[in-house]
Amino acid sequence: MNSLIVFLTVPHRTCPKTPNPECDLLAENAARALAGALHARKIQVELFLGDMPRTTVDLNRVASRTTPFRNRLRERLKIQQQRVILLDIHSFPEIETTNLDTYIIYQSQRRFFILPGLSVNAPQLYVSSLISYWKQRKIKTKAILGQFNDIIEEAVNMNVPAMLLEFSNNLSQERLDFIAQTTADWVLTQL
Ligand SMILES: [Zn+2]
Repeated sequence: MNSLIVFLTVPHRTCPKTPNPECDLLAENAARALAGALHARKIQVELFLGDMPRTTVDLNRVASRTTPFRNRLRERLKIQQQRVILLDIHSFPEIETTNLDTYIIYQSQRRFFILPGLSVNAPQLYVSSLISYWKQRKIKTKAILGQFNDIIEEAVNMNVPAMLLEFSNNLSQERLDFIAQTTADWVLTQL
C-alpha cells in the first residue's frame, strides 16, 4: 500500500422519495467507481457517506459541523498519519451547465498575510493539475471558485488538499468508469 490515502466524502447522497428530490443522484455511484479504481491501483480509500437529506441539514454547509458525519470526518483528518487528499463527490443535473462531464469547485485557503501579486483566489496546484489531466484526456470540465462548500473549506484550512468534484447525472456507466479510472491515474501522479 502507498503512503497516500484518499478520503471520499458524499454529503448529498441521501435522496428523499419525493418528486425532484434535493440530492446528488449519481454521487454515490461516482464515489464507488472512484474507490474501486483507486483500490485497483493500491491506493487506500476511506468513504464518508452522508446520512441525512439536504432538506434536514446540508452536510456541506457550516451549520452541519456538529453532525456525526462531520465530526467523524474531522476526527479522522486530525488523527490521520498518512498524507490525505480529500475529494468531495457530488453530481449535477444537465440543466445547471452546458455539456460538461465534470467540474471542480475549489476553495482558497484563508491567509492572514497576502503577498503582493499572490492571488488568494488562484486554484491550488493540485486543482490545476487535475483539470489539465482531465482535459488532456478529453473530459469536458472546468474549475470554479466555490463559496460555502464547508467540507473542502474545513479541510483546506487544516492544510489537507481538498476539492469538490461534480459529475454530470447524465454520464453513462462506461463514461463514469473512464473518468474514475482517469482520476485514479491522476492520484498516482500525486504520490
Ligand atoms: Zn451535492
